[in-house]
Amino acid sequence: MNLHRPNANEALQTKNRSRSVAPQSGICSRCVDGCKGNCDLFKSTFRGRELLYPSPFGSITAGTDKDYPVDYSHLNIMGYAIGAEGIEAHPDHAIFPEVTTDTWYGTTEKVKMKIPMFTGALGSTEIARANWEHFAVGAAITGISLVCGENVCGIDPKLELDKNGMVKKAPDMERRVEQYRRYHEGYGDIMVQMNIEDTRLGVAEYVIDKLGVETIELKWGQGAKCIGGEIKVDNIERAQELQKRGYLVTPDPSSKSNQKAFKDGAIREFERHSRVGFLDQEDFMREVDRVRKLGAKRITLKTGAYPMRELAMAIRWSSDAKISLLTIDGAPGGTGMSPWRMMSEWGVLPYIFILWRMTCVSGLLKRVHGYRILLLPAAFHQKIIFLKLLHLEPLIVRRYVWDVP
Ligand code: SF4
Repeated sequence: MNLHRPNANEALQTKNRSRSVAPQSGICSRCVDGCKGNCDLFKSTFRGRELLYPSPFGSITAGTDKDYPVDYSHLNIMGYAIGAEGIEAHPDHAIFPEVTTDTWYGTTEKVKMKIPMFTGALGSTEIARANWEHFAVGAAITGISLVCGENVCGIDPKLELDKNGMVKKAPDMERRVEQYRRYHEGYGDIMVQMNIEDTRLGVAEYVIDKLGVETIELKWGQGAKCIGGEIKVDNIERAQELQKRGYLVTPDPSSKSNQKAFKDGAIREFERHSRVGFLDQEDFMREVDRVRKLGAKRITLKTGAYPMRELAMAIRWSSDAKISLLTIDGAPGGTGMSPWRMMSEWGVLPYIFILWRMTCVSGLLKRVHGYRILLLPAAFHQKIIFLKLLHLEPLIVRRYVWDVP
């Protein structure tokens, strides 16, 4: 049984000619000579690069349709008749509209939230930039936390750098922080992510000093997938500008032959890559310390659906460094510039498996302490899944070594 429908996907804008398809390969039952169809097989013979990323970049958010045999829909909620949480267990008061979902996270500097929910990280992709205001205002009035993704300063066309190449003014970051704060009522927080390029550009220094941001999120890879973040750039001057700011850009826009190829139309776009941060315990501790000294009240870590070893490291190091929040992200989607095959085939995709692995690892780590765990299924779109997670939190977390302060 194939968990995909191979050889064609809407994310890549490919499809089979025939309704009858071999389930394992995805090839049409009759693959005919002279077919003008548009399956992966057909398209990759001459325009293979177009199958790398979901498209069109900048106007979509993608999510894999790999259909795992286990997910949250296999769980049912068991109600109970003794006691209540979030409301007084009294017949005159216990009605569901009155139940509170208030919660908090953090170690010393706690953040209150109206609902245990965060947005996904909205970073330097065009769709994230264009839709930021809706998310920011929605998060602020809902009382949840908002995550500003990586590279926002680095790709800002109006970015101003000082003589040391550090951020002096980043209007888009200013706009993002201001739009969240405009309706913020004391619940939730804005976190600004930092990858290697952000660190080199001094983004933490800028947002803490100039914008009063209190929470910096460190990253292990591009969230869930241990690759750097990528965006497409269809303008060679812009590609060169980003390269000058320290990004890795492919194909190299400073190469004379690539410049000629772009002029001739043989190269139509460039890819801006950001670097992968490889893990080292001492470096991690040092970076947490450095960002704290810059004035960050809270430091959080975002990592992905990596193997058990990295998961254990993330939990243990986060505990030792007393960071405020650890996010373990799944891998099955994004705002468009992760390779489609990574979205589909990378890491631990069903979040229910991530929960299981977290409980296994945390059960093995004897000295994890000082944390309250909020189990949040990323990219949930059904309220019922959210409710199931709220039920799972006490069942899973409190059973293991997590010491709720
Ligand atoms: S080339 Fe045409 S006939 Fe062959 S698998 Fe692709 S869509 Fe089907």
